[in-house]
Amino acid sequence: MPDATRESALRARNNDLCELCGSADNLTPLAVAPARDSGPDDHILACAVCQDQINNQAELVAGDAVTLTRDLDVKGTSFVAKRGTLVKGIRLTDNPELIEGRVNKVLIVIKTYFLKKA
Ligand SMILES: [Zn+2]
Repeated sequence: MPDATRESALRARNNDLCELCGSADNLTPLAVAPARDSGPDDHILACAVCQDQINNQAELVAGDAVTLTRDLDVKGTSFVAKRGTLVKGIRLTDNPELIEGRVNKVLIVIKTYFLKKA
C-alpha cells in the first residue's frame, strides 16, 4: 500500500489525532509489531513525542548511556542539565517513562522522551 494511502486511512480512523495521547502535532504512521503488511491494520497514527518515547523504551536497558535531547531544570538543585549531556549507567524505574541517572553527581529522574541512547 502506498504511504500516502496508509496515512490517510489512519488519519480518517483517528480524526487526525495521535492514537496514544491525542496530540494533533507531527503525526506519522508507526508500524506495530508484528507488521505483516503495509496497510493501516498494522500501523497506528502517533505523534513525534510518542514515537520517540516508544523507540526509547524499546531500546533502553539498565547500564545504558544516554544523552539529553533538551535542557532540563533539575528539581531541587540550582543547575540545568544541558542538552547533549552524557548520562552513563542509567537505571530503569517501575515507570517505563522514567529512568534514573547521575548528572553532576546528583541522581535525577529523567523522562525517556527527553533523552536518546548514546
Ligand atoms: Zn502522541
